[in-house]
Formats: sequence, C-alpha cells, structure tokens
Amino acid sequence: MDYINSMKGYQKFYQIPDSILEKAASAENKVKDVFKKIDEIKEYNQIKVIDAFRHNRIGEIHFHGSTGYGYNDRGRDALEMLYARVFSTEDALVRQGITTGTHAIAIVLFGCLRPGDLLLSVTGKPYDNLEEVIGIRKSAENAGSLKDFGISYEQIELKKDGAPDYNAIRDAMSRKPKMVFIQRSKGYTRRPALSVSEIGKIVNTVKEVNKDSIVFVDNCYGEFTDILEPTEAGADVMAGSLIKNPGGGLAPSGGYIVGTSRIVEMAAARYNVPGLGKETGCTLGDPRLLFQGLYMAPHVVAESLKGMVFTAAILEGYGFETYPKYSDERNDIIQSMYFHSKEQLIAFCQGIQAGSAVDSFATPYPWAMPGYDSEVIMAAGAFVQGSSLELSMDAPVKEPYTGYIQGGLTYENVKLAIMVSLKKMQDENLL
Ligand SMILES: *Cc1c(COP(=O)(O)O)cnc(C)c1O
Repeated sequence: MDYINSMKGYQKFYQIPDSILEKAASAENKVKDVFKKIDEIKEYNQIKVIDAFRHNRIGEIHFHGSTGYGYNDRGRDALEMLYARVFSTEDALVRQGITTGTHAIAIVLFGCLRPGDLLLSVTGKPYDNLEEVIGIRKSAENAGSLKDFGISYEQIELKKDGAPDYNAIRDAMSRKPKMVFIQRSKGYTRRPALSVSEIGKIVNTVKEVNKDSIVFVDNCYGEFTDILEPTEAGADVMAGSLIKNPGGGLAPSGGYIVGTSRIVEMAAARYNVPGLGKETGCTLGDPRLLFQGLYMAPHVVAESLKGMVFTAAILEGYGFETYPKYSDERNDIIQSMYFHSKEQLIAFCQGIQAGSAVDSFATPYPWAMPGYDSEVIMAAGAFVQGSSLELSMDAPVKEPYTGYIQGGLTYENVKLAIMVSLKKMQDENLL
C-alpha cells in the first residue's frame, strides 16, 4: 500500500502493518477539529509566554547559575518574575531544589497553615502522596504531618458526575477553613479534570462566605491546557512540578509556587527559613533549561494533548473504552484506557516502552510496589527521570485492567509508540 510521506516512516523503520496504519489514518481524520482547538490554545499561550519574556527583559545574562548563598542571582529572580507574569500572580517561588510536585504543594500547606487551622479539600481525596503530608494515612503517624502540628483536615466529595458539590462547599464554609484545596487534574480517578471556569465558581462560592479563606489549586498536569490558569480565575495560590507541563520537557528538576505576595513569602519561609525566604538558594549549573522549558511548554503540552487525543481515537476504533473520549473537553494531559485482559494491558505497556527513544531496549514487567494492593507495570522512556510530560504509562495489574498514559514531547513519538503497542498486541493474537 502507498502512503503519504508522514506514514512511511512508521512502515519502514518499525514495520507497522497496513491494518494499523489505516486505523491511525482514520483516527487522525476524526480528530482534526479537536487538534484545531488544541492549536488555538497553544498559539495563545505561546504568545503569552513570549510576551512575558519580553516584559521581563530576559537576556542571555540570566542563563548563568550562581553558587553558594546565591545572593543577587539575577537569573533566579527573573525566572520567578517570569512565572508570576505567565500565571498572572503577584509573586512566584520557582526552585530546582523543590524535589517534586508533592514537595511544592507541601511547602504551601506548611507555609500557610498554623495549629488549629482547618484544611478543606473540595475535590475529594487528594493525590496519594499527599495523604502522608496531611496525615490521613496510618504510616504517617508522628512523621511531621499537618496532623502532627494540630492542623485538621476535612474533605468534600465530588458529585457522582465529577462536578464540585457547591452546596456542601457553601455549608462547610461556616467552619471557617483557613485553606480550601482544589485538585484540578483527575489524577488516576475517573472524573473529569476541572475546567478553569469551574475552579472560578468554587472560588466565588468560597469567597462569598469567607473572603479570607485561601484557595489553593494543585495545578499538576493542568498548565497550558487552557488559555486561562486557575490563578486568573481567582485562586490565591497554585503549585506544580517542573518535570510536568511548565518545564516543557527540558527542566531537569524543580517545582513552582505562584500566588499573592504574602502567600509566596510564607511559602518561601517554609521552603527556606523565616528571614531568608526567597533571598538565598543558588542555581548552580544550568538555569537556562528552566527558561527554555517554560518557553517550550505551551508547544509541548499541545503535542502531548494531541498524542492523548490520538490514543483515545485509535483505541476507540479498536473497540476499547477510553476516558476521556477523544472528543471530550480536556483540562489535563492524562488518558485512561480500559483493556479486556491482563495480557492486553501488559503487551500494550511493553509496546510503549519499545516505541520510546530512550530505554527502548528495556522490557517492563509487573512487580509488587509498596503502597499498592496489586502488581504494577510502568513504561517510561524518558530523558528526565520520572518526567511525566514525557510519554509514560502506569497501570495496576488488576481488573478492570486500566492503563493510564500521559505526556509525549512530540506527537509523532506518541503516535509511533501507540502503533508499536497495537502491533505487539496483534503479534501476540491479543487484538
Ligand atoms: C503529579 C501530581 C502531583 C505531584 O506528584 P509528584 O510525583 O510528587 O511530582 C500532585 N498532584 C497531582 C494531581 C499530580 O498529577
């Protein structure tokens, strides 16, 4: 069969059979309008980011790191002003020393909350790693969690359809929570990721009753999926990881916090120490990658979103259930896929690894991981360890055989890896 040039490479270098290439072509046909919407958001955000560079007069001088105390580190300070501009906040803390997204979130929690305060999650149970931070998991006893410091915690579940329960939120405000916590991404649950306008509605509901409650958004996986960010809809503070969306696949590590001056100051006092706050913290070798990563981020997030839309469309073409569906609105970069058997799930995951540029020669197998009640299989061929803006997949090996996939620095690599996975399933008579 003859293909247009764009399909020939998959055939020549990876021996993707005609049947799969045809399904890919028909999936791409279906998603044209969805891609167009993603491109519109990408363009808006790219210009927004370039303007923020211009506004802050970013120059080559900012790309050289500092040592020791890092006093007057012009690059570090400029990077933080850049983040504040992009996310429309008064201030930002952006540091390579923030080890994970969980760390960034914990800095805000510990920075703002004091003994006797109430933390209220309005999007149900937060991301797994935060359970130990808050102190709602047994293993967290006396480990220095919020609970150990006398900070109480309550959560309001999302409604059955995944929407926030505005009435319950309004009622809970009578207990005067110091902080209201919102997780934007669906994480690894089956509910829609929250849109920025929905987050805005939560902010209004909270502030109508208690304008002093701090609204804090865990923005992991959400950055640049829309033209507005939660802080532009009234959230007081937001945090995330630089090895996800805003690092553009280039940042080697780090996390960010953006918000009002007062909150960022309190967070900096916790990240560093009271009194020093944002003033110290050297950037060592290569802060350039944090700048360049932010510059690339709108583009890379769009590549990854297109990859996930393609994944949903082609799998739907093979009769698999997916969530979200290819045509659904997206507010994060995670895609769930429902396989019919353990063998399908494993073969698919191994294909993702084989279709990566890095560590393509490794084969992932299910293994018992602490904290999970079943074996887990993971694929990640990443330039930056654990980066999930790069194509990666994880799945607990148990019914209903759900695979979670996210990221992709280039659309083409996602498309390739998905087809390698389908070929592997076909070769093993699983398709
Ligand atoms: C990734 C993520 C985090 C933070 O995870 P880390 O692995 O600590 O970076 C927090 N919340 C959500 C919803 C996430 O997706």
